[in-house]
Amino acid sequence: MAHLLYCGMKRDILIPLESEYCIVSQNNSSYCFDVATSSILKIDEDIKNILQDYKGCSIRTIIDNFANHEYLIKNIISIKGQGVFNPIRKKLEIKANGIGRVTIGLTEDCNYYCSYCYAHHDILGKENINISRDIIDNIINCLYDYEGDYVEVSFFGGEPLLCFDLIQYFVSKAKKSDKKFKYGITTNASLIDEEMAIFMRDNDFRVIVSLDFPKNACDLYRNSRGGSSYDLTVKGIKILNRYYDKGCVVNAVITRDNLNIEKIIDSFLEENISNKLSITIATDQHPLNEEEMGIVIDGEQAVINNILHGKYRSSFIYMPLSRVIASLIKRIHKLNRCYAGVDMVAVDVSGKIYPCHRFISISEFVIGDIAQGVFCDTYSSYCMNSVDLNDACIHCWARYLCGGPCMHDSYVCHCDTMAVSEYRCNRIKSLIESAIIIYGELIEKNKKALIDMVNL
Ligand code: SF4
Ligand code: SF4
Repeated sequence: MAHLLYCGMKRDILIPLESEYCIVSQNNSSYCFDVATSSILKIDEDIKNILQDYKGCSIRTIIDNFANHEYLIKNIISIKGQGVFNPIRKKLEIKANGIGRVTIGLTEDCNYYCSYCYAHHDILGKENINISRDIIDNIINCLYDYEGDYVEVSFFGGEPLLCFDLIQYFVSKAKKSDKKFKYGITTNASLIDEEMAIFMRDNDFRVIVSLDFPKNACDLYRNSRGGSSYDLTVKGIKILNRYYDKGCVVNAVITRDNLNIEKIIDSFLEENISNKLSITIATDQHPLNEEEMGIVIDGEQAVINNILHGKYRSSFIYMPLSRVIASLIKRIHKLNRCYAGVDMVAVDVSGKIYPCHRFISISEFVIGDIAQGVFCDTYSSYCMNSVDLNDACIHCWARYLCGGPCMHDSYVCHCDTMAVSEYRCNRIKSLIESAIIIYGELIEKNKKALIDMVNL
């Protein structure tokens, strides 16, 4: 049996001892976010001013300066008890338990030809455009080594439903093992029929459907090679919804021709085919420039205000925001954006292994082969890809919620997987600030609304 990993690696990361916090304010409310513990503390104007003026100072200095102000000292000491100024930091580590998440590129073929897609393989006259059953067997064997409770498998393409028989094959083989599997699929949904919908329901698939809004923007970029891609995809989602209560998450791509997130969301909600919307910002064929990203950030802020003011139906979940709120609730510290190449890999139709599905077919990112496993030295280098070791991120207050740059975006935009772009960071920080405010506002007043927001 092949093993996905030749070596394990465990590394302790020590968080710097000086206090690090960020003050976030909106209207009359201010919150102090403690970087190391992710504690969020509501603070009044006096404490806010002290924290702003004495940033980087020790708590001793502050106490000495305010010795006569009993109320302020009491509050500062109480903040210390909740994390801020607390020099005892827990150790964080990148764990290496083996590969627990695999994206399988089942086919290079697709019935659509979207202009922003990174998977434009030239398949004309090419053999083996679909994965073989032998490679699937190998993948399942490799996943037995994972030490976690369950393995997550995502089917990807091209269009994975062109190979529905291979998905059925994988699931039936996996059922014979004593490992638990969770499944996901990213699809354009146009091929979904009754049998597929029932199969996905019965195996509890997490279905992510790529669809842009409004319709004219979708049809501009997503070419179905005949007919409106929007109509075909919506039709598929409706079939899925008929059999599968859980439905799907819709993923819309933001392009420079379609930057208005408010309009995208209005149009998504009007179609009423799903409650969950995620967005991806195009990088591959049409990366946004700073000005365009500014429009996205402003639009996203307007959307978040609308969410806060109950403008949308209450079941609507805006995934980029909800993911951050979920991390705050669970106190998740991300040392890496996605752990690609660490506990997650992608396998292509020929069995080559990549850190994630978006690197598929980029030869310099082949990190192994399903017959042999992941190369040890490459694996070690991905384990070292920590936000605490990235010079650009090490002093960023948002680092443990962000996890650092997306390696693929950085590679496409800067030819360097560790590089960061200020204007991309601005969007992440603005999302995190909004999440902190929403968490702070709702945790006491309406905890149920907060929990509903992270019903992912
Ligand atoms: S926001 Fe930017 S600088 Fe901060 S951790 Fe993320 S990628 Fe790094
Ligand atoms: S490297 Fe980027 S595209 Fe790949 S899984 Fe991570 S965040 Fe996603």
